[in-house]
Amino acid sequence: MTELFIAENPHLVIQGEGPFLGKKMVVVRLFGCDVFCKNCDSKHTWTNPEENRKTVRIVDLVEEVVSLCEKNGVDWVMVTGGAPILQQEGLKEFVDQMVKKNTPPYSLILRTLEITCVIPSLWSTHLFLLSFHLKKVSFPQE
Ligand code: SF4
Repeated sequence: MTELFIAENPHLVIQGEGPFLGKKMVVVRLFGCDVFCKNCDSKHTWTNPEENRKTVRIVDLVEEVVSLCEKNGVDWVMVTGGAPILQQEGLKEFVDQMVKKNTPPYSLILRTLEITCVIPSLWSTHLFLLSFHLKKVSFPQE
């Protein structure tokens, strides 16, 4: 796997929720979700693929993320969606390439919904936190 679908270009944020509230991090927002919550607040991650889905080479995505981190003195990276785990092969490659950069050692957060298909090799020191996407407070659309 050499490419990933993204919904937004990587960008710097100040985390606005959870245990890392206030922490600066670079966010990679992947495209694709198969849950279709009615009240999803990020529908652009799974609707209108012609407009909202971009294909990026993983090697270029890693370069962009590392560059953003270096420019901003940030060593935290969060991958979210959508449901990132739907692209698990590409995600694994992304994590592997980020780990190879390793200066500084990056803390990676994967924020996703599904747990059943997490690749075992992602469960390592590379993955600092697996944060579940608990927004599904309505039934999926029929
Ligand atoms: S699981 Fe998350 S991204 Fe997917 S539809 Fe629900 S709220 Fe949106």
